[in-house]
Amino acid sequence: MYAKLQNIRVQPLPHFSDEQVQTDILRLDLLHPIVSGNKWFKLKYYLGEARRAGHHTIATFGGAYSNHIVATAYAAKEAGIQSCGYIRGELTHPLSPTLRQSRELGMELKFVTREQFRDPDTIIRANTDPGVYWVREGGYGLLGAKGAGDILSSANTQTYTHIICAVGTGTMLAGLIRSAGKQQQLIGISVLKNHLGLEQEVKSLLPNSQQAPFTILHNYHFGGYAKHPAELIRFMCETWEAEQLPTDIVYTSKLLYAVKELVSNQYFPAGSRLLVIHSGGLQGNNSLPSGILPFS
Ligand SMILES: *Cc1c(COP(=O)(O)O)cnc(C)c1O
Repeated sequence: MYAKLQNIRVQPLPHFSDEQVQTDILRLDLLHPIVSGNKWFKLKYYLGEARRAGHHTIATFGGAYSNHIVATAYAAKEAGIQSCGYIRGELTHPLSPTLRQSRELGMELKFVTREQFRDPDTIIRANTDPGVYWVREGGYGLLGAKGAGDILSSANTQTYTHIICAVGTGTMLAGLIRSAGKQQQLIGISVLKNHLGLEQEVKSLLPNSQQAPFTILHNYHFGGYAKHPAELIRFMCETWEAEQLPTDIVYTSKLLYAVKELVSNQYFPAGSRLLVIHSGGLQGNNSLPSGILPFS
């Protein structure tokens, strides 16, 4: 994989700071234009294990705009292993930009109904080829969390009091909890509506010895997964204007919105230093009509 760790940097966010609280963002989106952000970290140990064990194909699951699908297609290609994506819903014409790119990278796409998609174990059981290495939707799992644990070593992150990230499956948050210092507080912003059980799913990725407290906020989903009302789009434009910071409609815009509101509501004690994780995902903005965002 030719993702470049040295591209990652920390950017101060003056418009998300005040006299009490200083906010910086860790730009994982700069890692690579396709395998951007946390997906590279989450995939690296799965790919390593698949290769070591001699698997010829890595198979996984996702929707038509999934960052995880295109990242898997790219990372598998770089690792010299085939990839197969089980895609939720029917084949559409034209293909979404995400799926087109994944196919161009060599991924075999298999379309399954929403009902089948909800039951990945049945799909896995029906495939008897032992050369296939399976990765859960979004890279959820222990090796994914282990990989995400390496995020905090990509820059000098030890002096921050709070680390804040967007949460889908919770794998990245679990990884950050595993590698954060004892004095650091972890906050996740869930992008799904009513994702009850998320806390438990995060805990199940933590060894007993590393069960540290963390907080997940559930009220910044803007209507649900991938929902992006005009207010959110406006906020993304403002954030670009103010900080030259691109965000995506699914994860990082909701994360930044939450941070802005929490800082202005004085959620954090004076003297806090916040590290926000920009987990990438900008390719997901391709689902918008062009010209809506001032960056691409
Ligand atoms: C997948 C993704 C997340 C969520 O990561 P989880 O480990 O599933 O919680 C956050 N941000 C971006 C940009 C993503 O693509």
